[in-house]
Amino acid sequence: MNCPKCSTALVIKYYKGMLEVESCPACRGMWLEIHELDRLEDVAFSEDARKGSLIHESRLTKFPCPHCESPLHEFTYRLYDLHLDGCPNHHGFWLDGGEDERVIEIMRARSASLNRPPEAEWQEVLRNLVAFFR
Ligand SMILES: [Zn+2]
Ligand SMILES: [Zn+2]
Repeated sequence: MNCPKCSTALVIKYYKGMLEVESCPACRGMWLEIHELDRLEDVAFSEDARKGSLIHESRLTKFPCPHCESPLHEFTYRLYDLHLDGCPNHHGFWLDGGEDERVIEIMRARSASLNRPPEAEWQEVLRNLVAFFR
């Protein structure tokens, strides 16, 4: 698999002790496969998590899915100001380099008020995204 942004071959990286991701050594972006996220937790999705309002401003990009080469769609994940590129054929989604660290920072801030570990917040974001893609 090659990076959708810079075409460098992706390498496996163990991310935050949670999941294996395909990572780009050149631009430091990463590809998250939906089947990988399925393993995170088998918690039932709430109906709220399925609402499209969580995600808006979907638009076509020129970047190819590393699996099927369909153009990725860019989404804005409203709550966290998170921009993701997702495959329209449900192969997964792409985070640009550094975006994941920014997300974790937001999660830390949220977790401080909710008294939950930031990893739990992050997994919730991922679960919502997986639910959206289904
Ligand atoms: Zn790259
Ligand atoms: Zn695809």
